[in-house]
Amino acid sequence: MLEHAGPAGAGPYYLPTGNEVGIVEQCHAGGLAVMLKGPTGCGKTRFVEHMAWRLGRPLITVSCHDDLTASDLIGRFLIRHDDTVWQDGPLTRAVREGAICYLDEVVEARQDTIVVLHPLTDYRRILPIDRTGETLEAAPGFQLVISYNPGYQRMLKDLKPSTRQRFVAIELGFPEAPAEAAIVSNESGVEGGTAMALVELAGRLRSLRDRGLAEVPSTRLLIAAGRLIASGIGLREACNAAVVAPLSDDPTLLGAMRELVDAMF
Ligand code: ADP
Repeated sequence: MLEHAGPAGAGPYYLPTGNEVGIVEQCHAGGLAVMLKGPTGCGKTRFVEHMAWRLGRPLITVSCHDDLTASDLIGRFLIRHDDTVWQDGPLTRAVREGAICYLDEVVEARQDTIVVLHPLTDYRRILPIDRTGETLEAAPGFQLVISYNPGYQRMLKDLKPSTRQRFVAIELGFPEAPAEAAIVSNESGVEGGTAMALVELAGRLRSLRDRGLAEVPSTRLLIAAGRLIASGIGLREACNAAVVAPLSDDPTLLGAMRELVDAMF
């Protein structure tokens, strides 16, 4: 793995799970757009925050949803007093400022919204703004990063091949147990042994996917349990409240998960 010096100062804490830091650095240098694939809560957002700091670029984040329009991204005319003034949307701001634009859960956005990204992802790196007649060239340092959870709503929503093939895709999964425990301990303040036990519990719960658990417990949930434990809540109670209960409403699955908690703590 390459060593990365990074700028001075601490920056957002991120523990790499592979060579994702080096790959995104090269994509940034080469003007390539990046797609981060991975389950919810596995560290995609934190990774982007870390990379923006490392690359010394501002970060503009958009959480995508199915009402998000092209105008929400690009901008719109607003009426102010007797005047109409143009207001940049977050994508346009990022293009002008040379920022990193992070579109979280991009599959949630409608197809006609997603296509406005296309001219920014090829050699042209331009953003045509139909309403004003402008065509912006992306400022140096601009980079598009999208995130995508392949397991979630796979049947209902997917990215079109014509969109997918415009991105360098990086797969992020849950880290190996010792690394995940280090993250849980660092983020929640629980000591190493407790963090490792939480990760072990997650490993067992993650194997319940075959029994119908739609979303498995993420690193984020383990950190939430860790924070409760660090604040004095009992282990079982913390695991049930922060890890088990958020995952399902199915009484059989909940019962099976609680049994795993009781067996471990
Ligand atoms: P996602 O965007 O994939 O849903 P997040 O980036 O919000 O997930 O991750 C949830 C939390 O898990 C983060 O706030 C951070 O505390 C922690 N986390 C997950 N992976 C890592 C990692 N590799 N290094 C540091 N923190 C991590």
